[in-house]
Amino acid sequence: MKEPYAIHWFRRDLRVPGNEILDWLRQKYKGRVIGLFCFDKLFLSRKDFSCNRFQFFLETLKSLKKDLRKMGGDLLLLDTGPLESFDEIFKVLKQNNIELPETISWNRDYEPFALKRDRKMISFFKEMEVSTYNGRDHLIIEPHEITKGSKGDEGYKVYTPFYNKWIQKFQEESIQTRITFQKRSLSLVKEISHGKYPKLFSLTWTKLLKNKNKFPDYLEKYIEQNKKAVTISIPKAGNLEAFELLRSFSSRVKNYTSDRDFPSIKGTSGLSLFLKNGSISTGQIVSFLNLNPFDKNAHPGKVTFLKEIVWREFYYHILFHFPYVEKEAFKPSYRTISWSNNKTHFKAWKEGQTGFPIVDAGMRQLRQTGWMHNRVRMIVASFLTKDLLIDWKWGEKYFMEQLLDGDLAPNNGGWQWAASTGCDSQPYFRIFNPWTQGQKFDPDAEYIKKYIPELKEFSPKEIHSGKVSHKSYPNPIVDHKVQREKALKLYKEL
Ligand SMILES: Cc1cc2nc3c(=O)[nH]c(=O)nc-3n(C[C@H](O)[C@H](O)[C@H](O)COP(=O)(O)OP(=O)(O)OC[C@H]3O[C@@H](n4cnc5c(N)ncnc54)[C@H](O)[C@@H]3O)c2cc1C
Repeated sequence: MKEPYAIHWFRRDLRVPGNEILDWLRQKYKGRVIGLFCFDKLFLSRKDFSCNRFQFFLETLKSLKKDLRKMGGDLLLLDTGPLESFDEIFKVLKQNNIELPETISWNRDYEPFALKRDRKMISFFKEMEVSTYNGRDHLIIEPHEITKGSKGDEGYKVYTPFYNKWIQKFQEESIQTRITFQKRSLSLVKEISHGKYPKLFSLTWTKLLKNKNKFPDYLEKYIEQNKKAVTISIPKAGNLEAFELLRSFSSRVKNYTSDRDFPSIKGTSGLSLFLKNGSISTGQIVSFLNLNPFDKNAHPGKVTFLKEIVWREFYYHILFHFPYVEKEAFKPSYRTISWSNNKTHFKAWKEGQTGFPIVDAGMRQLRQTGWMHNRVRMIVASFLTKDLLIDWKWGEKYFMEQLLDGDLAPNNGGWQWAASTGCDSQPYFRIFNPWTQGQKFDPDAEYIKKYIPELKEFSPKEIHSGKVSHKSYPNPIVDHKVQREKALKLYKEL
């Protein structure tokens, strides 16, 4: 008798523990589940593609493949988009008289491109008479669950009411059941971190194809090819690395409210790049840290941290309900701003050569490490749009080219927030003063000196007042006061 099996199509849920649908499938098919990942050429040719982020992604896939193999399973990485990949796999299976999988599963993705792709794939699988199952992983609460309006299909545009609704939803039994599942998954993480890999799976691609046929696996090829283009040191990837960070952050979360705004302090979790690929999920973070918005005794640091996780979800909901934000300003009136778009200024901003130390330190951190502290992201984004009067879309694209955690929804949300073009953004007249921001959030200029060694000899006072004269560090390329007035005029005109 032929034994049914399933294929799990991995996308941005690159882990085994706490991958609810994978776990459900594994139980249903008694371990006969195999993994597939498709390198979509459309993704690889994006204009804001980043070799560094791609390398981190590849390393994450490698770590997942290793974990799956140790658990008796497998992961195949094909060089084509999902339609071509599944079509080819099904053809080969048919040619060899091997049953098609009974089910194909995946976790939902809310980006416009992904939604369109998934609709196409559902029709394809229907045609092939293969059942599909998709689940939730990337968000704790999904866009269709927080809506308003007479038909109940409108998304929220303001964070605070969204947050209030979010925590109300969070209490519901269906969500709490998922959180409990995530909590249980932590014991698997613990086992793996002790080198104990339970045999959860019992099917590999070689077994399925009865050694007759082999699909070329493109992972190593891509890793070797892309390595040459990498410009930074790529952090260790994978589920265990993400948990190491989370563990270390758990002893610091109590200080999160006070420390998170100071870039010289290790005050934040550093988990964003792992969340992007699903090496860890927000559900796991929430259960590991026991984040509960209704716990009256909860430490304020935990409450603030949860609010940031909800900001992430808010931006995904915005992108889902208002997909046009991917291409243009959320607020129609701000779509016609006449930006200066001075290319020399843009180059100076990218290279950390504007003469504004806190801005330059941030931009150099980004280029050297592929990551930037949130407070500094806000400062450099405000500076680009409201001091240099350059289109936020230029900054958004450059961030995507550089960030290891570059992610459409929060990146677009962050940029539109800073440029005041977004839904619940800074009012246009709130313009960060880069001098006072530096003074307030890097008072000893520790962060600045780390990334701008030219300024090592200067006192924090000199640095924060712009009174430094150095042969290789530039003078400020613009006058903040003058630019501020120009920005106010530009926005007011609209
Ligand atoms: C202009 C701009 C661009 C940004 N681009 C991105 C991006 O491409 N990818 C990305 O993940 N984040 C982006 N952010 C949000 C934020 O800066 C990063 O998530 C954060 O710095 C990551 O560091 P962390 O993991 O230590 O954060 P922590 O402070 O430890 O926060 C925990 C998690 O909460 C979420 N989070 C925290 N702050 C925010 C926020 N302001 N908005 C949305 N989610 C948040 C992230 O998932 C983060 O990993 C951007 C912010 C701005 C202002």
